[in-house]
Amino acid sequence: MLQSKAFIKTKKEAPKDEVSVNAQLLMRGGYIDKLTSGMYSFLPLGFIVLKKIERIIREEMNAIGGQEMLMPALQPKELWEEAGRWDSMDVLYKLKDQQGREFGLGPTHEEVITDIMRKRTISYKDLPLYLYQMQTKFRDELRSKSGLLRGREFIMKDMYSFHASEEDRKKYYEIAKKAYGKVFRRCGLTTIAVEASGGSFSKEVSHEFQTPTESGEDLVIHCEKCGWAKNMEVADKKAGDPCPLCGNILTEAKSIEVGNIFTLGTRFSSPMNAVFTDKDGSAKPMIMGCYGMGLSRILGTVVEVNHDDRGILWPRELAPFDVHIVPLVSKDEKITKQVFVEAEKIYHALQETMTVLYDDRDSVSAGEKFADADLIGAYQRIVISEKTLKERKIELKKRDEEKATLMTAQQGIKAVRVAAKK
Ligand code: ATP
Ligand code: MG
Repeated sequence: MLQSKAFIKTKKEAPKDEVSVNAQLLMRGGYIDKLTSGMYSFLPLGFIVLKKIERIIREEMNAIGGQEMLMPALQPKELWEEAGRWDSMDVLYKLKDQQGREFGLGPTHEEVITDIMRKRTISYKDLPLYLYQMQTKFRDELRSKSGLLRGREFIMKDMYSFHASEEDRKKYYEIAKKAYGKVFRRCGLTTIAVEASGGSFSKEVSHEFQTPTESGEDLVIHCEKCGWAKNMEVADKKAGDPCPLCGNILTEAKSIEVGNIFTLGTRFSSPMNAVFTDKDGSAKPMIMGCYGMGLSRILGTVVEVNHDDRGILWPRELAPFDVHIVPLVSKDEKITKQVFVEAEKIYHALQETMTVLYDDRDSVSAGEKFADADLIGAYQRIVISEKTLKERKIELKKRDEEKATLMTAQQGIKAVRVAAKK
């Protein structure tokens, strides 16, 4: 992609009303735009990263049998009353149409998916089923000062599983838990699987996937030795106490909840009468689980944990570009021309097999180009300048490396290709 044509309008300063690091850097880098508190547009750069997260999630959900679908965000009040949540869900946006009918803007989709299932004849042979979507959710959040971490409109992957037995659901819970770990690892995030109470849904076990970081709103207590972990909201332990499993000293950490898996049981299938025919011919409510993950929150979290004072350090799988090619303008016009000819050659050589941002701007200073490159945070950077040209070399470095290495263009192309795949 030619930088001169790309819709990347970087900014030196962060907007004054934005306090979160993720939104500050993403806005400065031209990734997102803030409409108002808790509502952001994904600009072309941000959209590239969002689609990369989406792809990772899709691959991992399909790998555990998930089938993708899409449900409406607008949901009739009657459905929410059936499951008894119209009045109890405080974050539900409610609205009326021209004829006075009432609707909720979906903060989650248990009601809709359960309605889909109850309208079909389901036998024990059809189960289990794993259905998921990636979709915009709406929540009337009181605090939305954390950028993409807490939107009032945000993007979530929500999967719902349907089983004929509790035993089968439990088995799948463990499979989903592993798949969640994989998704977060590929996104470059460390997570602690934290046992939590089921919240508004059930008294059964649920797990939150928490990424430790100072900007987190949650507080978890965990054992670094055996992995025992709980959310401080529910735990009766404190830092310094011995781990109930292995006796090691427990530590506390601020963290961000990037995903959540729940046991639903028959919480929705019973009141909504979503049944299947069992082996003995009797009708039984389906046993359910649900598995949520915030795409936009993951994006924000990645920035929170991977940045320096100059900008974003994208992990390999999420970087909007595998490599950024940055030719520098020289005082001598002739040399500048040569520098750009050399840069263009490398651009064409790499473009076929990877995503390349080519800084073809010929009236921008070296300082400005470097500042933009650091802010945008492509995975690798190649610099070609009067100095490198003299030695018939280029400079290559990864965004997270301090020093660049001088090498020939051929060596550089090879190294960039290898690194983009690892
Ligand atoms: P929290 O405790 O942070 O409010 P939650 O427990 O309400 O989250 P769930 O209902 O389980 O979250 O939603 C599943 C996932 O969706 C969460 O793990 C998180 O990644 C994401 N998510 C939830 N609320 C928001 C939000 N307001 N903005 C962005 N992502 C969100
Ligand atoms: Mg929670």
